[in-house]
Order: sequence, then C-alpha cells, then structure tokens
Amino acid sequence: MPVTKDDVLAALAEVEAPDGRPLPKTGALSEIVASDGKVFFSITVDAAVVQAWEEVRKVAEKVVKAMPGVSSVMVALTAERKGGAPAPAARPPQGAPSGRPAHTHGGQAQGPAGVPGVTSIIAVASGKGGVGKSTTAINLALGLRDLGMKVGVLDADIYGPSLPKLLAIREKPETVNGNRLKPIQRYGLTVMSIGFLVEEETPMIWRGPMVMSALTQMLREVEWGTLDVMVVDMPPGTGDAQLTMAQQVPLKGAVIVSTPQDLALIDARRGIAMFKRVNVPVLGIVENMSTFICPNCGTRHDIFGHGGARHEAERFGVPFLGEVPLDMAIRETSDAGLPIVATQPDGPHAAAYRAIAANVRDQLGPGGPSKAAPRIVVDS
Ligand code: ADP
Repeated sequence: MPVTKDDVLAALAEVEAPDGRPLPKTGALSEIVASDGKVFFSITVDAAVVQAWEEVRKVAEKVVKAMPGVSSVMVALTAERKGGAPAPAARPPQGAPSGRPAHTHGGQAQGPAGVPGVTSIIAVASGKGGVGKSTTAINLALGLRDLGMKVGVLDADIYGPSLPKLLAIREKPETVNGNRLKPIQRYGLTVMSIGFLVEEETPMIWRGPMVMSALTQMLREVEWGTLDVMVVDMPPGTGDAQLTMAQQVPLKGAVIVSTPQDLALIDARRGIAMFKRVNVPVLGIVENMSTFICPNCGTRHDIFGHGGARHEAERFGVPFLGEVPLDMAIRETSDAGLPIVATQPDGPHAAAYRAIAANVRDQLGPGGPSKAAPRIVVDS
C-alpha cells in the first residue's frame, strides 16, 4: 500500500514542536505531498525561532523515513518573517558566497551562497509561457556539454516541471547518505526536477514558502558533484515567485528566451527588468521560433516578424545570443524526450544551439559577464 498524506500526518503526531505540541497541531506544516513512496513537505516558522525548529525538522524527517513504504523524504524548514515575504531558507548556507555583489532585501544585505562544486549557475527565463524556454534550456545545456563543459540542469519550474518529458525520464532519484538525492544522468547531463519526485497526476498545491524550500532543497540537497555550469529552467513569467527565485539562486547570469512577436518581446523586457532588479546580469536574448522554412518548398517564412529579438537586444544593450527556427523536428524531438542536440548532433539545429552555447560561454568568460547592466524601459 503506498503511503498516504494521512499516514504521514499520523506519524508526525509523535513529533513534538519546541513548545511540546504535536507537530500537526502547530499550523507550521505545509501541504504534504506523498507519492509513490516519496514524501515532501515543509515546516514554516517565524524567523526568530528557526534554530529551535531545526531539531524538529530532523526528527520529522527521521520518523517519516522510518515508515514502511517510504523510500525518500524531503522536509524543508522555512523561515517566514511576520507579515512579510519568506526569509531565505533557514538552514545555514553552505559553500563560498557567489561572485555577485550582495543585494538588499527587506533592508538586510544578503546574497545567496553558491552551490559547492558548481562554478556557474545560469537561469533560462522567459516573460511568458510557451515560447520554448524549456526546449531552449535543455538544448543549450547539451550545446554547452558539446563545448566540453560538465553541465547540470535544474528544472525550477515547480508548477509545470518539463524535464521528465523533455528527457523521457521516468525513473526516480535515489536517496544517498540519508536524505541527499542523487540526480539523474541523461545524455551526459546531470539533471534534477521536482517532476522526478511526484507523479504527473499528483495535483500540487504550492504555498509561497514551499516553492522556495523545494528550490533550496533541489539546489543544496542534491549530489550535483562538480559542474562547470548549472542551467536553471525557471518558471515562465515575472511574478513574485520568479523574482524571489532569481534572488535566492546564486545566478551568474540569465538567458532570456523570446519569440519574435512584439508581445513576447514586451514580456522579454519584463524578464530583463526582473533580473536587473536583483543584480543578475543578462547574458543575452535567444530568439526562438524565429523563421519557418517550408518543408515542401524550402522557402523561408518570417511568420512572426523575424529579427525582433536581435533588434530589441541591440536597443537594450543586451547581447543577442542567436536564433532558432520554428521547425517540426525541434518540436517532435522535444516532445518525444529526444532533444535535438543529442539525437541529431550533425543537423543544422544542433549547430544553432551550439552557436548559442558558445555565445553564452563567452559571456560567462573567465571574468564572468562583461556587459554593464542594461538600461531598461518597460512598456506596460
Ligand atoms: P516553455 O518552456 O516556454 O513553455 P516549451 O519548451 O515547453 O516552452 O515549448 C513549447 C512547445 O513549443 C513545445 O511543444 C515545444 O516542442 C515547441 N517548440 C519549442 N521550440 C520550438 C521550435 N524552435 N520549433 C518548433 N517547436 C518548438
């Protein structure tokens, strides 16, 4: 019998909060996700008492881990400031601080700590969904791999994880050393997604703090090993959740994916503005679905008004990283979990992604992103 949410709650009743109350009675527990032997939840407490709760988190994790039918558990402790946004993850940051200057949030100087062993973390983002962000992220990662880099991909799209589909991954990550998770290897990439932990059909109800704790866990409690670059597939859009993520992940830079339509470009501008707000350099813009080559006659059709992204990039002083055509082969491979850079490495599309990857690598350069922060105008 698979373990259910109620089983987990019953087991947690024996875990005591610092004031002696059973944990489920404290109101600190998030929604519990229990699926296929994997259990995931968070405990949200006031930032002032977080130290006292670390022991509770550990005990909760131990108790659930010991339940029959549970193969892995992730319990996050999140500190919430009263009446405000969630504070950064409660556990002490590991590793060296990132190279980027600390920014301020809520009047306090803070910069997210780096992930040990990972040289550069870059975000792939888009102002809105459906522009091909995830397809670009995975093929860019493969392009960077082809340049000889050791690459990881973190699917941070908590609401709609796409890595399981993009890479046709159905296996579950194993737990190592207690509660750390072993990422999955595919096409030479080291990959992790919340989608590996919960079933696709499992409705996920994420409260704000839980999103951040899930992300923190996937960054810091996964055995990423040594990576030259980690590509983070961000959730689409530029809302609060995205802003918080951009702020909490120690990013070296961000790649913005846009289609050439004007509307998407306005969204892309919002994306650029969002990263600027949190002092993350924009490495450049990728124009996806830029042209359509008719498979019958070979004629090129600029159905979306080709060149928009290049023009906008110039206008904002942000590098233009390259373009990817709208092509059935990209759609089919992407949707079948066979990314085109890995499965058709000699074709023109793989070459386009590799060219983009080379530009990204150059932007990251030995000294990191070189361009000064662009001037942003957001039309709303
Ligand atoms: P997002 O992450 O922005 O929501 P996806 O990467 O999931 O976008 O892509 C949305 C859809 O568009 C998918 O079906 C994908 O296969 C398709 N797609 C993405 N890029 C291209 C492209 N260059 N040509 C054709 N189809 C594409």
